[in-house]
Amino acid sequence: MSDTIFGKIISGEIPSEFLYEDEHCIAINDINPQAPIHVLVIPKKAIPRLVDAGADDQELLGHLMLAVGKIAAQLGVADAFRLVVNNGEGGGQTVFHLHLHILAGTNFAEASI
Ligand code: 5GP
Repeated sequence: MSDTIFGKIISGEIPSEFLYEDEHCIAINDINPQAPIHVLVIPKKAIPRLVDAGADDQELLGHLMLAVGKIAAQLGVADAFRLVVNNGEGGGQTVFHLHLHILAGTNFAEASI
């Protein structure tokens, strides 16, 4: 497990409400939401950045994508969400334990990116 805040949340050292959990990942509400719905999907395996994932992680990465669909459905936003992965400091990553941001509850249709 990583020493990051997410490693501590996954291990239970820092209590947090899991919106979703399965064998390979959890989902929690972001502490500083950037949209009305802002959920983080975090693999239990501590991969620092997306680019640090290797061939061994192929199945896990697919699993995370399928989990996103399930979580979006659970949240009632399967038809309207944005999925973001920040990679590296220059990409805006602040917690170096891979995670996916599900952003929803606002209209992204006219956003420039
Ligand atoms: P990054 O910038 O690394 O892509 O995203 C890290 C995210 O983790 C940020 O959106 C930040 O608000 C969130 N975050 C940081 N610390 C905590 C925490 O202790 N609990 C929760 N739930 N989210 C956190």
